Amino acid sequence: MVTGCVDLDQSFKSLDSSVPIPPPLPSKSNGYQRRHGMDAAPGLGNGCVSTATRDMWDRLFIDGYKADVVIYTDSGYVIYAHANIIGNASTVIKGMLKQAKRHGKWHTISIRGVPHDAVRVFIRFLYSSCYEKEEMNEFIMHLLLLSHAYVVPQLKRLCEWHLEHGLLNTENVIDVFQLALLCDFPRLSVISHRMIMKHFKELSATEAWTAMKKSHPFLEKEVSDSVILEENMRKERIRKRNDQRIYSQLYEAMEALVHICRDGCKTIGPHDKDFKPNHAECNYEACKGLESLIRHFAGCKLRVPGGCVHCKRMWQLLELHSRVCADSDQCRVPLCRNLKEKMEKQSKKDETRWKLLVKNVLGSKKIGGSPYFLPVTSC
Ligand SMILES: [Zn+2]
Ligand SMILES: [Zn+2]
Ligand SMILES: [Zn+2]
Repeated sequence: MVTGCVDLDQSFKSLDSSVPIPPPLPSKSNGYQRRHGMDAAPGLGNGCVSTATRDMWDRLFIDGYKADVVIYTDSGYVIYAHANIIGNASTVIKGMLKQAKRHGKWHTISIRGVPHDAVRVFIRFLYSSCYEKEEMNEFIMHLLLLSHAYVVPQLKRLCEWHLEHGLLNTENVIDVFQLALLCDFPRLSVISHRMIMKHFKELSATEAWTAMKKSHPFLEKEVSDSVILEENMRKERIRKRNDQRIYSQLYEAMEALVHICRDGCKTIGPHDKDFKPNHAECNYEACKGLESLIRHFAGCKLRVPGGCVHCKRMWQLLELHSRVCADSDQCRVPLCRNLKEKMEKQSKKDETRWKLLVKNVLGSKKIGGSPYFLPVTSC
């Protein structure tokens, strides 16, 4: 809670329900904002300053009534202003005015390196927080720079907001990114970096990129490296997702194998079961593939580990089963016990590989698990 503020929401909640609901806040699309294209821009909140007051400050700048500062800009143009106002709005300008040469009542200062019109928009903002949408679009980069150089936080926030909400594009993003880092706009640097990553191929072929490579080679390298890193992470995510799908399919195959050997399914099942070919509808997705694999395994002449590719697959499934099987005494899956004994003679390397596979397969079903399989933690 902020000291000195009243939590209105909380206050209203605690009041009797017969108290009328307060009227809504003034609409964001009132006359003033429409005229100045401010929409939902921050820092220009509703209701604090009336439209008339803002217009008065705006007029004071435009008319220059009793101005006492001459600001020299590029191309020989000048802007008239009031020392008390611009000095109060920016501590940097206050310092400049203190050291400025005086000619009678006039202080003279210079703001150069940006277009004259950008300086005019900047000074007008210091008076009234007013600006035209078109001017913001045109001079956003200059205003960003000026807001930093002359320490005007509200303009800084406004520029950031406009860039984030539409003015940042593939044409200015590289410049914005560099400016954001140089002028301490952390949020903007993250947003522009994200955009560069997204359009890296297109942007790395532009002149702006070549210029950045020349002026800030370390920065260019850092961005390129982060793109490579991001690409590797993306590939890794895809690989993990694919692995997860395979583990999940193996888990389902393990369930189906137990079900076929215990209950029988469609055309195959345990020999002692009263087996009817028109068996009830099966709920195990994996049965279909497993059924044909078991049929092949039963009839294949090469039925040895390392033999035909289908038999090899079947052996792997049987071995995996014996490793996840919770009770070989109750189990009806062929060779379950034999394979359990065989694994005791396995090399350490094979053992580690299998253990990892078992852990991943059992872990692929996060909820529940099966009473026929070992709990995942024991693997
Ligand atoms: Zn089935
Ligand atoms: Zn075979
Ligand atoms: Zn078993």
